[in-house]
Amino acid sequence: MTCIKCGSDNVSVQVINEQQLVNKHHGLIWWIFIGFWWVPIKWLFLTVPALIFAIFGRKKQRIKNTQKSIAVCQNCGNKWDV
Ligand SMILES: [Zn+2]
Repeated sequence: MTCIKCGSDNVSVQVINEQQLVNKHHGLIWWIFIGFWWVPIKWLFLTVPALIFAIFGRKKQRIKNTQKSIAVCQNCGNKWDV
């Protein structure tokens, strides 16, 4: 493998673990304007369906792990996806 930037073949490949949050987090403004009334209403109307979903084993995935290989050029420090 050769570096696409400088053409050196002194390239090492690393496997990195990326973690990304799948669910969105609400900001402070959301809580001030919407969260204080929306969350109780949501609880009232969604608790029963949520329980049904829980019984059927549907789980929300919070953290998505993806393994990714990247190549690092030892000559110029360029990094790119393999
Ligand atoms: Zn390079």
